[in-house]
Amino acid sequence: MMRNVYAVFNKPVPPDSSPFVMSVWERVNHVPDEAVPYIVNQIADEEKMPQNVGRAILRAWESWQVNNPGKMVHINCDVCGNEGFFWCWKQDEKTGKYQHFLSPCPSCRKSDYPLPSMRDLRERGIVVMPVGYTGGPVQFDRDSELGALWPLGTQEGVGRHLVSASKGPDMRLDPRRLRAMSEAERADVAGARYA
Ligand SMILES: [Zn+2]
Repeated sequence: MMRNVYAVFNKPVPPDSSPFVMSVWERVNHVPDEAVPYIVNQIADEEKMPQNVGRAILRAWESWQVNNPGKMVHINCDVCGNEGFFWCWKQDEKTGKYQHFLSPCPSCRKSDYPLPSMRDLRERGIVVMPVGYTGGPVQFDRDSELGALWPLGTQEGVGRHLVSASKGPDMRLDPRRLRAMSEAERADVAGARYA
């Protein structure tokens, strides 16, 4: 995809191993192959080469999805629930804040390098939303008090824990939340919030 984009604007392609290409790849590798021609065409319509190639690709990808509703359903993958990726949260060591990112599913995504499984990610201390979580990523973020998609500290962000917050931390946690989380995630969240 990047080779094609650069070719359109008659620019030399940075080597695959360059930090620039790697960082763009990290942002766009969940995009399925079938959307690539469309994305390249969208970018080729631009007056000049976009400064931020990653963003240009993601914008074109969004546009593809809007123009192709229902096209993604042919992915049939139980591992990721047909999402094509896992919803992940990583805690910043310095600030303690969680950052949200997507990790491509190793079962239904092609990649030049081995993609981490949900278990691999969890073993690295990353919080992964269970497949099919009721309410989706925003609800999971809120229920797990990750604060990346739903701000902590606001009434909405505290959610159902608002009541217990006034009486100190509720170590029992929410049963639905407990059920949905792995051991590692529970340790993660408990460690981060109640240490
Ligand atoms: Zn999958």
